[in-house]
Amino acid sequence: MGRREEIASALTRVRARLDAACRDAGREPGAVALLPVTKFFPASDVRVLYDLGCREFGESREPEASQKVADFTADPGVTESVHWHMIGRLQRNKVKSVVRWADTIHSLDSERLADAVSAAVDAATDAGERSGPVEMLIQVSLDGDPSRGGVPVEDLEALADRVACAPGLELGGLMAVPPLGADPDAAFAQLHAVHADLVRVHPGATTLSAGMTGDLESAVRHGSTCVRVGTALLGSRPIVSK
Ligand SMILES: *Cc1c(COP(=O)(O)O)cnc(C)c1O
Repeated sequence: MGRREEIASALTRVRARLDAACRDAGREPGAVALLPVTKFFPASDVRVLYDLGCREFGESREPEASQKVADFTADPGVTESVHWHMIGRLQRNKVKSVVRWADTIHSLDSERLADAVSAAVDAATDAGERSGPVEMLIQVSLDGDPSRGGVPVEDLEALADRVACAPGLELGGLMAVPPLGADPDAAFAQLHAVHADLVRVHPGATTLSAGMTGDLESAVRHGSTCVRVGTALLGSRPIVSK
């Protein structure tokens, strides 16, 4: 089987899995967006997914992402615009290059980083390298372990207010990854409650980015609006992957 057929059947399976998860959770099929995660895989795989109708992609590492976006965009067969998501840990020294390609950032976890992204969006806009704001999702740390990224729940409100006021940023919602070894149902239930509190204060922050290959059903049961799926679509990555 060629790569194209392999990806096509994987996409069909993942879409069916997501539809079933929505039905089992009593939600509309289509209530949850599928975000294909293409990190570690070449621009040619992104092109296959594009040909199969995907228009949103998640990347997590620089400079891999910048190069891939450039390669994909230069492909003359690509005629429609796509929406790129930065889902990985974001370092401040990478912000300048990330705002040149990312439309949504899922991994905001500090006010310092918010200020850096805001300034970088402003500079990139002046330089003609991007137009429009960047949608920001705040990554929540459900166990308060800062080494894995994410803001502790008690600091979320201040960070959300900061984003809401920052030029060039739009507060889109929340993202989280369950703590290692945690029960995903418990983690996603907590996240869902935290998200409900946020939406009460920031009614536009409706996105809840939760769920990956191993736990998407659980995330869909607990209000996810966007599942980030890599392995089930493109296969396993090298062990070093993040
Ligand atoms: C790599 C990655 C994913 C995709 O994970 P899979 O288990 O391969 O589906 C999702 N979210 C984040 C933040 C990632 O870094």
